[in-house]
Formats: sequence, structure tokens, C-alpha cells
Amino acid sequence: MANGEKLYAREVISNVIPNNVFNMSPQEVIPEQNLKLANAREFGISVATIYLGLDCTREELGLDDYTVFIMGNEDPRTQYNTRAEDGLYIVNCLNNVIPDSSPEGTCTMFFTMPIFGNDVPKDLKPEEYKKYKNDLAKKYIEDAEKTLGISIMPHIEEISVATPVTFARYLGTPEGTIYGYKLSGWDNLMARIAGEKTDYAIPGLSFCGGHYTRGDGYSSAYIIGDTIGKRVAKRLKGDA
Ligand SMILES: Cc1cc2nc3c(=O)[nH]c(=O)nc-3n(C[C@H](O)[C@H](O)[C@H](O)COP(=O)(O)OP(=O)(O)OC[C@H]3O[C@@H](n4cnc5c(N)ncnc54)[C@H](O)[C@@H]3O)c2cc1C
Repeated sequence: MANGEKLYAREVISNVIPNNVFNMSPQEVIPEQNLKLANAREFGISVATIYLGLDCTREELGLDDYTVFIMGNEDPRTQYNTRAEDGLYIVNCLNNVIPDSSPEGTCTMFFTMPIFGNDVPKDLKPEEYKKYKNDLAKKYIEDAEKTLGISIMPHIEEISVATPVTFARYLGTPEGTIYGYKLSGWDNLMARIAGEKTDYAIPGLSFCGGHYTRGDGYSSAYIIGDTIGKRVAKRLKGDA
């Protein structure tokens, strides 16, 4: 259905994550193995982000780089294990590459902290959510001030904080995953490619996008979209 209208097609390509497609479909048409596969997969990483509008230029702020990666520890395993506290975060200032991306005399920053949806405390009550977001923002802004030797807090005019909960709401993905399914263990790239023909086998339905074989990120999503598009076009022309 699209805007109340029922549309028919010989082929459908979906870049919506299979969990959601299966939830929206009549259950009797979904092979049990497909449901099991979607349920067996682990969701990929999400992020918490802080967007800041500042009342000074990036020169006045003293930030000369577009992107700075800040790590609590140099060991990636430790970064992963402590991701909910101080694993790794990224500080960006867009004005360094696009000077007029904000009005004259101002600049913007955004912080990105990779965390999983299930890192958000499970017992967090709706009335505690605002404090959770504010504490998170304060912690990372203060850490960046200390690490980069710049003063951010007094310059903040606008602030917006997003968490995996925000991404779950606006992207509609389970646990707010921004990277489809986790590529690891049995569900790795080789296994996905090897099982592609049999993994999802609903006639006329193909998947593409970040949750599919290549995993997520813009480049993977573009490549798999191109591959599947060509494959389906070939089938429609009767060449496959
Ligand atoms: C904050 C953030 C930062 C990121 N940073 C990077 C980065 O630096 N580098 C990188 O490579 N990747 C990054 N990504 C990931 C990148 O955005 C994804 O890899 C890419 O968008 C995946 O493309 P896709 O087509 O699979 O999914 P999407 O781009 O999410 O497209 C899915 C589309 O389906 C629509 N949709 C969902 N449900 C329905 C429905 N029921 N009916 C109709 N439409 C529906 C959605 O509105 C959306 O437009 C980031 C993502 C986020 C959120």
C-alpha cells in the first residue's frame, strides 16, 4: 500500500530491513526459514549524536580540523568494551570544509558516539530520558573541551541530542540500528554471499541496502543497490 493505494509489481526491491518487511507482511507468505534468519541476526551499531550551533566562528573556537577521533584507550577491543562510557567518539566541525555552512559569525559542531541500541539502559523511564541525554551531552562536550583545549560550553546557542531511541523512531529500524545487521561470527560477508540465493527466497522480492549482504555504510549500500537493480532488470528482460 502507498498512500492508501494498492500497487502491484512483478518485482519488488526493498531497502527496508527484513524484520520490518516481515512484520508488515501477511505472516503466511513468509517462509519459516526467512523468519528464523531475520531473528537470528544481531542488529548493527547505532550512534548517539550531539549537534551544536555556536555563537562564534570556528577560528574563534580554535578548531582547525574537520574531523577528530578521540579515544579513551588505544586498544580497539577496550574501546568496544567501554563504548557506553568512553570508547571512541568523533568531533566534527563542518565549517572547516564548508565555511559558509552556517551564518556569518557562527559555526556548528557535531559529535558522534558509536553505541548499540541495547547499550541504552533497559530500565530507563520516559521521565528520565531527558536527563540521560543531557548527561551524555555534558560528558562528551566537557571531555572534548579538555582534550582539544577549546572552550565550547559558553558558546552554545542551539543543541540537539539524538540517541539510538531517536534513530529507532525516525529511521524505523529495530534498536535504532544505522548499520543493518552486525557483520560478525557466522553472519559474516562470505557466509552472506554464499547463502544469498537461498537465504531470502520469496519470489519477486529482493533486498538491497545496508542490511543486506555487504553490510552497511554508504559505499556498501550503493554497490549492493546497483548489483541487485541490474540483476532484477535482467530478470524482467528475460535474460536471467
Ligand atoms: C547519524 C548517522 C551517521 C552515519 N554516518 C555514516 C558515515 O559516516 N559513513 C557511512 O558510510 N555511513 C554512515 N551512516 C550509515 C548510512 O546512512 C547508511 O549506510 C545508508 O543510509 C544505508 O542506506 P539504505 O538505503 O540501506 O538505508 P536508508 O538510507 O536508511 O534508507 C531506507 C529508506 O527506507 C525508508 N523506509 C523505512 N521504512 C519504510 C516503510 N515502511 N515504507 C516506505 N519507506 C520506508 C526510510 O525512510 C529511508 O528513506 C550514518 C547513518 C547515520 C544515521
